[in-house]
Amino acid sequence: MKIFCYAVSKLEEPYVLNWSKKNNVEVKMIEAELSSENAHLAKGYDGVSSEGITPVDESVYTEFEKFGIKQLAIRQVGVDNQDLEAARRHGVTLTNVAAYSPRAIAEMGVTQAMYLLRKIGIYQDRMAQGDFTWDESTISTEIFHCTIGLVGVGHIGGATAQIYSALGAKVLAYDLAYDASLEPYVTYTDLDTVLNQSDIISLHTPLFPSTKNMIGEKQFKQMKSNAILINVARGELVDTKALIDALKNHEIGAAGLDTLADEINFFGIHKQPKDLPEDYQILKAMPNVLITPHIAFFTKLAIRNSMEIALDDAKKIIEGGKSRNTVN
Ligand code: NAD
Repeated sequence: MKIFCYAVSKLEEPYVLNWSKKNNVEVKMIEAELSSENAHLAKGYDGVSSEGITPVDESVYTEFEKFGIKQLAIRQVGVDNQDLEAARRHGVTLTNVAAYSPRAIAEMGVTQAMYLLRKIGIYQDRMAQGDFTWDESTISTEIFHCTIGLVGVGHIGGATAQIYSALGAKVLAYDLAYDASLEPYVTYTDLDTVLNQSDIISLHTPLFPSTKNMIGEKQFKQMKSNAILINVARGELVDTKALIDALKNHEIGAAGLDTLADEINFFGIHKQPKDLPEDYQILKAMPNVLITPHIAFFTKLAIRNSMEIALDDAKKIIEGGKSRNTVN
């Protein structure tokens, strides 16, 4: 068996080599993400894996069909940028990695929230001006006196609930589905209650047409004026213009963002700051906003698991089996 593996970084290579040896499967690696320009390289291979961040057009699946390739194992959770129907039309089974390390993403959300709760960005700015004073506008609250509101408590929201609960915070959760195993950590409630009562609101739903801009002008007006919004899920869950207005008008206190709307145009790319979108520039200049470049997933465990789980799925499907990570 031979698998063609796109988008493999130097960091990931050892995990691929190890998997290849253990499973006795030949794996060809390249650094470039799968695209219509390089899909032809997979000719002669039995299966394919790629990171899955960049959307691919139907021509990729047309080529795979011609080459007799029946699967594509992507190595991230979100499949919002994949054309699942096009893949299906060409007999290509798509798998994602539904849970490579929910704790990695959960810990990033909590880290951002703690940074903002303790007003560290504001003090970093002051100290850069030689100002070591403090005042009542920046007084903080211990986390165990905070109410946390989680929107979506699946893999990552559930892991987030456990961390906040262990820190002694009260945790409210809104989700379309109920998970009894989370009862020790959360109180399930409706979205309005989460928005009205929470000091920290953390988003953990997938991006669907139904969740796009689920946090907009109306929702910001429902939040406490010192509320901290955390988005380590998908940028498009939040209406960015409404977020900027809410911050400017002091309708909320702060925002932590690991994901930004339209980040596909600069994700993983080194650009000149002046070439980044205006919304980003405005947010970045605010001391009560913390932006990270979509790195919540970036831990050793998550990288290893995403590679191994994707290759396991590729092998399973090539051998005619089924994967519970199939998304189309
Ligand atoms: P999941 O599928 O395990 O959980 C999502 C939860 O959201 C489910 O419980 C679902 O019932 C709930 N949900 C769906 N629609 C809802 C709605 N309209 N209202 C309320 N709840 C709703 O997903 P996950 O693995 O926990 O991933 C959560 C998010 O994190 C996704 O957006 C994913 O793309 C993102 N993510 C980000 C990173 C990163 O590096 N920043 C890494 C991995 C995943």
